[in-house]
Amino acid sequence: MKRIGILTSGGDAPGMNAAVRAVTKTAIHHGLGVVGIRYGYAGLVAGDFVTLTAENVDHMISAGGTFLYSARYPEFAQKEVQEKGVEQLKKHDIDTVIVIGGDGSYHGALALTRLGINSIGLPGTIDNDIPYTEYTIGLDTACNTAMQAIDRIRDTASSHHRVFVVNVMGRNCGDIAMRVGLASGADAIVVPERSYDIKAIAERLKRGFKDGKDNGIIILAEGVMDAADFRAELLKYGEFDCRANVIGHMQRGGAPTVTDRINATKMGNYAVKLLLDGKGGLAVGMENGKLETHDILDLFDEKHASEESLIDINEEMTK
Ligand code: ATP
Repeated sequence: MKRIGILTSGGDAPGMNAAVRAVTKTAIHHGLGVVGIRYGYAGLVAGDFVTLTAENVDHMISAGGTFLYSARYPEFAQKEVQEKGVEQLKKHDIDTVIVIGGDGSYHGALALTRLGINSIGLPGTIDNDIPYTEYTIGLDTACNTAMQAIDRIRDTASSHHRVFVVNVMGRNCGDIAMRVGLASGADAIVVPERSYDIKAIAERLKRGFKDGKDNGIIILAEGVMDAADFRAELLKYGEFDCRANVIGHMQRGGAPTVTDRINATKMGNYAVKLLLDGKGGLAVGMENGKLETHDILDLFDEKHASEESLIDINEEMTK
């Protein structure tokens, strides 16, 4: 093994840079070179490579986004395009690759492994929608950002006896909504994983106001429906002063939290060790707080298991 190539792909997530830094510093410690591949698989095929040194990644632990940039490049699903990528890697003496991204990106890592370039996938997405892992890099920062925004929304909601329907990210996965909903004391958490009764939610809000509450907060996962549409539905069952709010892309940015920095660093360090052991075609995940691996192929038939008990706890605590 000579040189590791590393790329970030799909949506950016806070902590991706911390993982790149960990890979670089660990690899250098073991006498290996590291090459940053810019713009995901598009940059791989174009040969957009930069040498990474301990010095140029050093401060990256605190930087949000991805300094290697990301790209959507669907062409990489084609075998002849993948082969072009492999040619570029060989030309630059790169014989292993670490991919930080979502499950789409893992397809590329598996393809490279099958073409003789051992590759490891690290879960980099705020959505926490990857099978066989309870955590993805960026999840914690996104949840904290959303929670802080909701705390502020509650201040204004309370001042006007208002209800807010707050849309949080996560695509078809309700994990951000479940965590943020519980952490911000929401009156209801609405996610794609569970059916919901909008009339019951309206009744609960009415009871709350009657009993002296001065605000109502509903956390709506983006995979369910638009916040404005949910608001319109809700208003059919009660006359509230109600606003819809979409927190949006601010959830993707910002300096990573301690949890994201530590987990990204552990995962990057672990990925280099897997490559040193001659492993490839594996996805790194976290189960019960411990790092594990699974064959990437196994992930494609599996669904991510959400911690749905968070919703049960929230329901038990709301009248
Ligand atoms: P996120 O969850 O943040 O969107 P993702 O990795 O799932 O991340 P995708 O857009 O699905 O995002 O995939 C990222 C990139 O991975 C694609 O633009 C493409 O370059 C590559 N990719 C996706 N599917 C495949 C595939 N079947 N074969 C090879 N490469 C793929």
